[in-house]
Amino acid sequence: MIIPIRCFSCGKVLADKWEKFQEEIKKGKEPAEVLDELGITRYCCRTVMITHKDFIDEIAKYRRFLLPAEEREGAGKK
Ligand SMILES: [Zn+2]
Repeated sequence: MIIPIRCFSCGKVLADKWEKFQEEIKKGKEPAEVLDELGITRYCCRTVMITHKDFIDEIAKYRRFLLPAEEREGAGKK
């Protein structure tokens, strides 16, 4: 949903590199090359960056997914 701040496995900070990574990919660079330039060399961190999909804007359109479970159930009955 939102890029994890740190790598799940090793704890390296990744969130600060996400925007740069996205920019370079949009310019047409190879992901592997960009990750090398950003100093993301471990495969655990590379996996987080490559497999991440930003869809918070998509989810935010649907209010019920952002509510706690109790409110979600009640919202449908009204
Ligand atoms: Zn890692």
